[in-house]
Amino acid sequence: MKYCSTRGGVQGLSFVDSLLTGLAPDGGLLVPETLPDVSGRLQAWRGLGFVELAQEVIALFVDDIERETLDALIADAYSTFSHEDVVGIETLGDVTLVELFHGPTLAFKDVALQLLGRLFKHVLAERGERLNILGATSGDTGSAAIAGVRGQDNIDIFVLYPEGKVSDLQELQMTTVPDDNVHCVAVKGSFDDCQTLMKSVFGDLAFKAQHQLGAVNSVNWARVMAQIVYYGYASLRAESAPAFCVPTGNFGNVFAAYLARRMGFPIGRLLIATNANDILARFFATGEYSRGEVHFTLSPAMDIQIASNFERFLFYHFDKDADRLAAFMQEFAETGRASIGAPPGDDEFLATSVDTDETLAAIRAVHERFGYVLDPHTAVGYAAAQKLASEVSGPLVCIATAHPAKFPDAVRQALPDVDVRHPTLDALAGQAVRKQLIEADIDAVKSLISGTLS
Ligand SMILES: *Cc1c(COP(=O)(O)O)cnc(C)c1O
Repeated sequence: MKYCSTRGGVQGLSFVDSLLTGLAPDGGLLVPETLPDVSGRLQAWRGLGFVELAQEVIALFVDDIERETLDALIADAYSTFSHEDVVGIETLGDVTLVELFHGPTLAFKDVALQLLGRLFKHVLAERGERLNILGATSGDTGSAAIAGVRGQDNIDIFVLYPEGKVSDLQELQMTTVPDDNVHCVAVKGSFDDCQTLMKSVFGDLAFKAQHQLGAVNSVNWARVMAQIVYYGYASLRAESAPAFCVPTGNFGNVFAAYLARRMGFPIGRLLIATNANDILARFFATGEYSRGEVHFTLSPAMDIQIASNFERFLFYHFDKDADRLAAFMQEFAETGRASIGAPPGDDEFLATSVDTDETLAAIRAVHERFGYVLDPHTAVGYAAAQKLASEVSGPLVCIATAHPAKFPDAVRQALPDVDVRHPTLDALAGQAVRKQLIEADIDAVKSLISGTLS
């Protein structure tokens, strides 16, 4: 499998090269040149466990790591999950919940980042190279990325996060990691500032090359690839093609569902659930992609206005017309808005936004009816699914993206008498913290990186 850029400037890249490249040098995102068609294999795959299915699906995208090695990396990555089949499947009345939060940092990002850390380690060792990862996080990516690479001697990781805008527990999950290769950087700004800073640093190709910088944000193709697996897995366990409802900010998770469907897994409509940061919901209603103010909500991992994986979706929506895509993205970068003229017009997606009251009501309702506690991100998805259920045929599957104990304040607001805990999080209390605070300024980021690595 070869990879190309959504903006047309890169072609024929191997998987391993695309893994190490992150953002393409032309500013676009890497995508496979063709999508594998799995429709002929579904029957054979139906009985597979998560790890076995992951080995089958990922091998379709990776032809430059030996199959046996790849299988071992995948098995090792998912051995860190506490659930016997990696992901949990729960039934709440008419809704099936796919729990993706049984990894080391208790959010779905572990599914991709446990694998990514092992892929990096293997590839770097083979090549005798090292890599310095630069990431931006709205909360959960940072700790999951750190958990994926901590302690590795051929990798350093720098994580930018918005000071004061991630939950205390999320911050502790990053800043209490004692390994020397981990550098937590609190930025005086929003998550979008952090993401823009990261992109600007990557945009300085000389600096990027000099410091061997790579990405683990959802701009990295391998993350999307790993996420395709659980949509395939859940779809093969449903009685008929399910609709998936996905709480999203960066469009990463729901984009993986979109690809799983294009590859031929039996998947119905995709329901996009946003919080008050509704740029995606507005796009699917109007065809206009326009940046608004960032709202800070109970679901901070979705407090995002610029959805980086949206570019990959548009690339497919424009029938892989890289020039049209590049023009769209340029217009958006210059003016904060761009339009495709009308709503996307297919019936693949439904989108809605969910406010704070609806999120809290969903947490309460699910607890009352089923004795199950949703985290606030999952609750946004569940509430959206309830709103859109009448427009969906077939089973309804909601993606559970985090363990509720990660967001105790939101849960307490909904359920004052319920105490949700997790031993992993309880163990963070009282541990030593390491972080550096900087201004939202590209030179501050660059000098921190050069200074640390010199
Ligand atoms: C990152 C995250 C999301 C949003 O996922 P995207 O891929 O950015 O759309 C939702 N919920 C939780 C708990 C997250 O950590």
